[in-house]
Amino acid sequence: MAIVIQQHTALSEHTTLKTGGAARYMVEVLSLEDLREVADFIVKEKLEYLVFGGGSNIFVGEVGFSGVVIKMMNKGIVYEEKETGEVKVKVASGEWLDKVVEKTVTDGIFGLENLSAIPGTVGATPVQNVGAYGMEVKDLITEVEAFHLPTKKVRVFSNEECKFGYRDSFFKTKVGSEYIILAVNFLCNKKFTARIAYGDLEKRFITEAPTALRVREALIEIRGKKFPDWKVLGTAGSFFKNPIIPRTEGQALRARYEDLPIYDVSADMVKVPLGYILDKVCNLKGFRSGNVGLYEEQALVLVNYGGATPTEIISFVEEIKSRVFTKTGIMIEPEVRFI
Ligand SMILES: Cc1cc2nc3c(=O)[nH]c(=O)nc-3n(C[C@H](O)[C@H](O)[C@H](O)COP(=O)(O)OP(=O)(O)OC[C@H]3O[C@@H](n4cnc5c(N)ncnc54)[C@H](O)[C@@H]3O)c2cc1C
Repeated sequence: MAIVIQQHTALSEHTTLKTGGAARYMVEVLSLEDLREVADFIVKEKLEYLVFGGGSNIFVGEVGFSGVVIKMMNKGIVYEEKETGEVKVKVASGEWLDKVVEKTVTDGIFGLENLSAIPGTVGATPVQNVGAYGMEVKDLITEVEAFHLPTKKVRVFSNEECKFGYRDSFFKTKVGSEYIILAVNFLCNKKFTARIAYGDLEKRFITEAPTALRVREALIEIRGKKFPDWKVLGTAGSFFKNPIIPRTEGQALRARYEDLPIYDVSADMVKVPLGYILDKVCNLKGFRSGNVGLYEEQALVLVNYGGATPTEIISFVEEIKSRVFTKTGIMIEPEVRFI
């Protein structure tokens, strides 16, 4: 089937932040064959390209994108059961992550349940090593299959080759971003192991024994209170990364704010929760300027309350960065990809 090349597509309709300019071209990709066709078009026309899944971690500026946006919509979930009870779950990159979590939990295949209710596609999960509630996809990914557009070759990456870090991977590097993820293999299990030692989740299971379904239900409820409904309001979830800073700086901050939680990253570095800093140190929870604000329930979440332009969002982000720096000396960075 020949691909359809759309022109002047408004990217505000393809990002959960609901803002941004247009793409010169956009192609919805359903298969490897489609991808090869897009690659021919891109090489022939000497265009830049950019991959989109659900657009839930992308900020598009006023000018949009002058190349081709490749929107991954390929589908398929395959289970490969082993005698040990382990199950390899191979998922096409265009599958919606939460649908996959729901299906595996229903089918009695466990491991992904802590990633319930995260918007976006499976193909985007290795890119920023998506994580929530005490786990990251790197804990389950065994292989990632990807298409290298410049050479049109398919390559399988091992977990090690993905070079996962905190909200980071090889696929965020210059060379890595030449790859378009086609499928992700997760190692799940028919035996359920509860991972609930995490804040709000732990509190839910003090008197009740956790099952995968109950963990999923609890997370849908907890997250429903922490995040605005992205189908209604514009948001990309946590807009900034939690800062990783030298231990000495973390200790100095803790001396000033004794409730500040600090998590070990290495012998010298610690991670501090930016939500705490924005809320308790900078008093910015619910802070709003025009159509943009930090969510009332979770200061880490930036919200487009309707009609915010990319320029408005950028100046709001700069304001937040500067206030955090003034109070703490920390330069915060966005988690969201800027186009
Ligand atoms: C309400 C809300 C809550 C969120 N909660 C969390 C959370 O708890 N934890 C968390 O980690 N994230 C969270 N996020 C961020 C977001 O859901 C994840 O980053 C998600 O993986 C993005 O998926 P996507 O398909 O929308 O990717 P996009 O936003 O479309 O793309 C993100 C990046 O991945 C690249 N990409 C996408 N698909 C492919 C592919 N097939 N091949 C190569 N590159 C690709 C894009 O080029 C881009 O660089 C949240 C977002 C929202 C809106």
